[in-house]
This record gives sequence, structure tokens and C-alpha cells, in this order.
Amino acid sequence: MKIQILGAHATEVKGARLTSLLVDGVLALDAGGLTSALSLSQQKKIKALLLTHHHFDHTRDLITLGADVNHWEGQIEVYALQQTLDVVIPCLLDGKMYINFLEYPSKEKPSLLVQAIEPYSRKTIAGYDVLVLPVKHSVPAVGYQVTSPQGKSFFYTGDTTTGISHCWQHISPQLLIIEVTGPNELEDWLKGVGHMSAGLLKEELTQFRQLKGYLPRVIVIHIGNVYEQQIKEEVAQVARELGADISLGYEDMRLVL
Ligand SMILES: [Zn+2]
Ligand SMILES: [Zn+2]
Repeated sequence: MKIQILGAHATEVKGARLTSLLVDGVLALDAGGLTSALSLSQQKKIKALLLTHHHFDHTRDLITLGADVNHWEGQIEVYALQQTLDVVIPCLLDGKMYINFLEYPSKEKPSLLVQAIEPYSRKTIAGYDVLVLPVKHSVPAVGYQVTSPQGKSFFYTGDTTTGISHCWQHISPQLLIIEVTGPNELEDWLKGVGHMSAGLLKEELTQFRQLKGYLPRVIVIHIGNVYEQQIKEEVAQVARELGADISLGYEDMRLVL
């Protein structure tokens, strides 16, 4: 299983895209910096998209993706919580700001086909076993454990904050892709807005190791651009303290399981 980090940042500037991942070229997770990272022929291979929550930095490329899919009259399945769809559909896909790709080019075969998923449910999507787990954030949000037919798996938390250790008992991934949005000095603020610091990450990983007896490789994304150097140093310190493989993700990073 090949996992490509298309976007590793919390805000967009030249060279830094919003959060998005791609598995083996066919399964996308979050749509922050999805279309700007991929050629048309690469986008054409995408079968399904999993959304973690409704925030704009994770969903906005639904529009540009819908427009591109229309070029080859294809269709992409979009999975999300009902609470996520309840915001995304009337805000992004209402047909006022742009085209409603849930009904275009035709109601029979629109560019995007949405389907609600339930927390704690398990479903085969684009050939992968996908487990949906609720995570703590400022709005309803889920993380996804994606397992390949060969039995390799990773867990992507999406945006989250401290208090997600209840997830650990359900998963045994070889790779954890998690967020750190800001530096330790802003820990209280980060907790309040549903995000992680390196210090909070350390607490969650400590609980993971206590419960599971190991730590997977950890890749940190959703990096707050202005804090990147500080986050890098603080994450490196956590890696040393835990004796674990933890590093920052970056645009077009490729991970193989
Ligand atoms: Zn968010
Ligand atoms: Zn976000």
C-alpha cells in the first residue's frame, strides 16, 4: 500500500497545500489540497473520497474535483458522517456558489455520489477495509483506519485533540497519520479549538503504547505553517523521549506499507 501526502498543512501558501492523502492512487482522504496536487489522469484513477469532517480546509476541493470528474463523465463516491454532509451539501454544493455536482451532469449519474457512514462502522471502499472511528474536534469528526487486502493498515485521525485514546483499542496500524497544528506554548488554545500540540501528542502516544504494547511509525500533518520550525523541533523532542519514529509529513511525501 502506497500512501501519498498531497497536503500536509493547515493553511495554504506557495508550496504548502491543505490536508489531503491518497492511497494507491485510488482512495483519497480529505479534499483540502487534492486537485492541485494531481494531474487529470491521476484524478481519473480516484474511485472514492473519505471526509473526516466538514471544515473548509478538508472539503473545498470537492468542487474542483467535481468539475474535473465531469470532463471524463466519471463518478467519485464521497463518504462522510451525516453531520458532515448536512453542512457540506447546503454550503458547498447548493448550486448557488457553483455547480451542484450531486446532480450534474445528470441526476442519474452525477460527478459526486455521497454516502453517509456511521461511527464504528466497517465497510469495503475501493477494495480497502475502512473502519470509521469518532475523534474529538470542534465539530463532529471521524478518523479512518484503512487496511489493504494484504493486511497492511494505517490510521488517519484528521483534525483532533487530546482524548482520542478510546480509538486505540479498536486499531492496530503500522502507521499513524495525526495532526499537530501549533506549538506547545499554545496548548490551551489548541485544546479549546480541537487541535494538537507535540506535548498533547506525546500523551496520546504514551497511552497507545501502554494499551497496545508498541508504537507505529507516526507522521504529523495539518502543520500550522507559521509554527512549522517550532513544531518540527517539539515533535523531534517527543520522538527522542519516546524512542519512537515520529516525523513531519510534507507535500508529495510517499509512504509504503
Ligand atoms: Zn477542522
Ligand atoms: Zn483542518
